[in-house]
Amino acid sequence: MSVLVENGRVVWIRPTAEEGPVPSEVRVIDAGGSTIVPGMVDAHSHVTLPGGSHWIDRAFDAPEELLDVAEHNGDLLGQAGVRWARDVGSPAAVDAADGQRRALALRVRDRWQKDPTRPRMRAAGTWLAHSGVLPAGLTVEADEGPQLLAAATKQLEDGADFLKLYLDGPKKEEAPWSTEDVRAVAELAHGRGAQVTAHSGTLVGARVGIEAGIDSLEHGFELDSDAAAQMARQGTFLVSTLALFRSWASFAETTTLPRFVEDEGRQRVARRRERAIESVGLAHHAGVRIATGTDFGGGSLRANHLAWEVESLVEAGLKPWEALASATVRGGELLGEPEAGRIHEGGPADFFLVHGNPLNDPTALWRVWKVAWRPDPRAATL
Ligand SMILES: [Zn+2]
Repeated sequence: MSVLVENGRVVWIRPTAEEGPVPSEVRVIDAGGSTIVPGMVDAHSHVTLPGGSHWIDRAFDAPEELLDVAEHNGDLLGQAGVRWARDVGSPAAVDAADGQRRALALRVRDRWQKDPTRPRMRAAGTWLAHSGVLPAGLTVEADEGPQLLAAATKQLEDGADFLKLYLDGPKKEEAPWSTEDVRAVAELAHGRGAQVTAHSGTLVGARVGIEAGIDSLEHGFELDSDAAAQMARQGTFLVSTLALFRSWASFAETTTLPRFVEDEGRQRVARRRERAIESVGLAHHAGVRIATGTDFGGGSLRANHLAWEVESLVEAGLKPWEALASATVRGGELLGEPEAGRIHEGGPADFFLVHGNPLNDPTALWRVWKVAWRPDPRAATL
């Protein structure tokens, strides 16, 4: 196949034998032997955070440092073929421009919006969580419904594209808020054209989120078949982040951190991984739309690891082409961006080239050769 690109748009896609005459000023790139893949969507990312084995500590680094981290992550995302980053939580800091304290990722989003070679971004603002769940100072804490609603309102006023709730509570067997409290947040957001998503590590929290009518669950590490069936009926998305467990398992070899190295820690990771794979499998069988996330930054993965999650989805029972769809078109559906994760004539030239066939081998996504939207403004045929 050949693709003609002009000013960042796809003019045509044709069999190479039917290209017809190509004007002499067109720059021809010989991409022989590679596969054209739509730019991917990392539907669960934290662009201001670096990830790695001390991922939570790094969230307390200075805001200027985290803004630098975001620029590095922007490079890594692009080089890995990721066009869209959906940021599901960042630390807040005072912005010198107006003296207002707001989520750092909103600043990154606004900066990247002006540069078509940077990742396209949607940002949730800061995490909204019950006290006693995540380290103090990282999240906006709200223990009661009215506080939660006020905190949600503030995030939207700050310019968040959607809201991120943390549906794990201080007690594992209880959700942090009632269904009514979460429903009020969903209604507020929907009334302003915004979505609500939630971190979901437990079944009890997942049930509250689904019942309350939020738009998606992140992780969904403990779903059952009833929860999955209701998600499918309502159109609730699941954003999978299974590669986390592969990353943590690797830390048994590459760190000396006791919680990864010691037998008990290894077994805990293995058990949670098995349950999480089962959950994604149940969701897939129920027909839930699954988008794909790395959780880079907010977890231990790095910004160029989305291929690892596609591999993990195949392990959970998706066919390779279904897992690729999760990382492309399903992510676009979650964002409400009909052009994200697709290639078509007249659409943006948001594609990249890999070696191998990702329709039957997800590891092909690691072998990126060229990314069409990265700096190179000259028109080209491929
Ligand atoms: Zn996360």
